[in-house]
Amino acid sequence: MKALVYDGPGQKSWEDVPNPVIMQPTDVIVKIDTTTICGTDLHILKGDVPTVTPGRILGHEGVGTIVELGSAVTSLKVGDQVIISCISACGHCDFCKQGVFSHCLGAEGASGIGWILGHLIDGTQAEYVRVPYAETSVYLLPKGVTPRQGAMLSDILPTGHEIGVKYGQVKAGDVVAVIGAGPVGLAAIATAGLYGPSRVISIDLDANRIEQAKSFGATDAVNSGDEDWKEQVLALTDGLGVDVAIEAVGIPLTFTMCTEIVRPAGHVANVGVHGHPVELALQDLWISNVTISMGLVNTNTLGILLKLVAQRKIAADSFISHSFKLEDILEAYDVFGRAAETKALKVVLNA
Ligand SMILES: [Zn+2]
Ligand SMILES: [Zn+2]
Repeated sequence: MKALVYDGPGQKSWEDVPNPVIMQPTDVIVKIDTTTICGTDLHILKGDVPTVTPGRILGHEGVGTIVELGSAVTSLKVGDQVIISCISACGHCDFCKQGVFSHCLGAEGASGIGWILGHLIDGTQAEYVRVPYAETSVYLLPKGVTPRQGAMLSDILPTGHEIGVKYGQVKAGDVVAVIGAGPVGLAAIATAGLYGPSRVISIDLDANRIEQAKSFGATDAVNSGDEDWKEQVLALTDGLGVDVAIEAVGIPLTFTMCTEIVRPAGHVANVGVHGHPVELALQDLWISNVTISMGLVNTNTLGILLKLVAQRKIAADSFISHSFKLEDILEAYDVFGRAAETKALKVVLNA
């Protein structure tokens, strides 16, 4: 089969590789129908994620059709079309029992980390993928939800919802600020709306993106390139500061910006993937009763979000800016990697 193979920092190729085979009785083999590229894949290609070694097939998002079952798989069948979660969960370990699938203790990949596809084992940017712990890691695609929509549930919608909105404890009446209007920031904006905030402020340097954010439910847009961006945000909160500041970029500056606009006793929810240490002004923050949270998605709300996508309460198609044939994945990477120029959000690849 063909697959997108990571060949070390800055290098990738679309090449012939052996088809995946069942290795554990709990595995399934899935023929990919739709997959996507994630910001995390760009981090890997920059060399920011050294646990990904050359030769690895990338990708941790997608929808596909089951073509082969391991001997222990009884609740799925050949021909089922499924959403592949970016987190593989054994379903039996202490963390899985608590719903903390992100730190599954199963031996697949490495014990203690649930994100293994396209990281520690071969991923979804391929014609076929082996999915471990299938019964607890894939979700049947219901009628009325397209594979493209389903692929938005592998990672970005659960990540924005769980790590941004739920960890940030967004509630009715809150003023929520989301710094970063890429796909995951927009997913946080879209799912914040489920909890009835009074305002959702989208903050980004890109004027096009903060305008687009309004179609996902942002009530206000502030360009962080403006000298008075902070005053603009505070003016929308009667000067108090925002109840919840969600960081969806992953650089020190944007994290610090969140701590500067949150009100006393508010929440800062970090969603961004950071590659560098961040200084925390604890000498100023300790007195402000602020709660700071962070994490890797569990995808334990994937099923709930899937219902909302099926009922058109979340417009999953809106995240998709470009579609390509799977074999044109190198071109898709180029478009996704130049998002500021190409206005790319999610780029989907169809088999
Ligand atoms: Zn992802
Ligand atoms: Zn587990």
